Amino acid sequence: MTSTYTPLSTRFPEVDAAQVFAMIIDGQNVPSSDGRTFRCVDPFEDAEWGHIPSATEADVDAAVAAARRAFPGWAATSPWARAELFRTWSALIREYAAELARLQVHENGKTITEMTYASQGMATHLDYAAQIALTLHGSTVAPMMPGHSAWSVRVPIGVVAAIAPWNNPLGLLTAKVFPALAAGNTVVIKPSEVTPVSTIRLVQLAHEAGIPAGVINVVTGAGPVGAALAGHPGIDKVGFTGSTSTGRKVAAAASSHLAKVTLELGGKGAHIVFADANLTKAVEGLATGILSGTGQACNAGSRIFLHEEIRDEVLERLKERLAAVRIGDPLDPSNEIGPLASRAQFAKVTSYFDIAQSEEHTALIQGAGRGTDLPGISGGLFVEPTLYDTPDRLSRLRREEIFGPVASVITFSSEDEVIELANDSEFGLVAGLWTQDLDRARRVAGRLESGVVWINTWRAFSFNMPFGGRKDSGIGHELGIDEVSEYTEEKAIWLGPDQSS
Ligand code: NDP
Repeated sequence: MTSTYTPLSTRFPEVDAAQVFAMIIDGQNVPSSDGRTFRCVDPFEDAEWGHIPSATEADVDAAVAAARRAFPGWAATSPWARAELFRTWSALIREYAAELARLQVHENGKTITEMTYASQGMATHLDYAAQIALTLHGSTVAPMMPGHSAWSVRVPIGVVAAIAPWNNPLGLLTAKVFPALAAGNTVVIKPSEVTPVSTIRLVQLAHEAGIPAGVINVVTGAGPVGAALAGHPGIDKVGFTGSTSTGRKVAAAASSHLAKVTLELGGKGAHIVFADANLTKAVEGLATGILSGTGQACNAGSRIFLHEEIRDEVLERLKERLAAVRIGDPLDPSNEIGPLASRAQFAKVTSYFDIAQSEEHTALIQGAGRGTDLPGISGGLFVEPTLYDTPDRLSRLRREEIFGPVASVITFSSEDEVIELANDSEFGLVAGLWTQDLDRARRVAGRLESGVVWINTWRAFSFNMPFGGRKDSGIGHELGIDEVSEYTEEKAIWLGPDQSS
């Protein structure tokens, strides 16, 4: 097997090429069937470090076949027995949380603080999904047909494809994989080509915990591998997180064999500050909306709406806050933002700095520095937190998902106006508002076209709250009390009249 590793100084001594530079099919670490590989790039050093198998269609076939073979046995395993295995797996995730966090930092350059929180949270999520599976239930009714009995049960769907992006690789992947497995499905995972290694390590821990071979399979590679998986006739459901444009392709591929889909797609969060808000807290919330994940977050607050009475004051404070942000090595916990995750993402985000210059009404408020322009930065894929004034509602900066620490600022004068402006977006994932008027909070929250609304907070999160988008931000929800049901079908069972008479 090709498993070469070029250590980047001594930053990640824990990477074991023999162990993690492989796909996992039917419980085995395997190379691609044609031996081809692709490279991982560390965005802090902007340097290549690993050679990962690039799956062929035959590899995708093999992974789906392995999952199909494993399905009857896993589906027949009682949820109590599955929960027992999950307890062992979650203990291993806790034990190895630091390693899983560091691998993700190596892959996508997010800060160690954020990746540690996400890695530890995974174990909590697994415990939660296992418990929910124990509460799955159907219904019993008095049917219209005399002498009959009727009831329904929840059954697993079959083989699930889990396709994830790079921005929170394990957290977003496990939002599909944990509930799918808990419901009794088997899975084939396609991580982003930017972040394959942490996924492989997580699945190895599952096997160490005793999850049987074939129940979880991983194929690695770029978009075409995901396309082959989503369109594979052996897949019964696709759980996908990624961009809206890829989501459309996934839905089309899945529809070719009528597989179900859950799609968690892009966002352009509206973050509204009313004049009566606690401005100190609001400014910190705005900063969170821009900085979290270096802005590479579906739940970024990338459209900032400021009431005209407090606009100047909020902007002054926000500029000061962003100018003080510590940018640098994502392994240093004192840094608030690291580099962008990939060369492609760096090119995309910085292209918006050029687009801004070409837009007549768009004006830079602060930022737009990149890479080595920034003080103390000697290389890597860095950009500065950036604010633009975007009064034109057709501005591309205001409408498109940039996926970096870049926000549009828009001024408003009334509640009705800001609701209309906030809803003037094809996206509908997250939104938030800051006000001390609870009647206003209730009214506005009710009228925002968004899957999630935060009031006087931003990015609040809990595994037992649903997360999902409206409009072009997706189909279906993840997490919450229904997360396991989403990976089941309800089956109706009828019992005819007494046969003895
Ligand atoms: P992409 O849509 O580019 O990729 C997502 C995944 O799909 C990757 O594994 C990718 O592989 C794969 N893929 C690419 N082409 C296809 C295809 N034709 N068929 C099947 N799979 C394919 O998204 P990004 O990875 O760039 O992630 C960022 C996006 O994800 C943003 O739009 C963000 O808003 C969204 N997102 C949404 C969230 C939500 O909960 N709503 C949460 C987090 C992110 P590869 O990377 O190897 O090309």
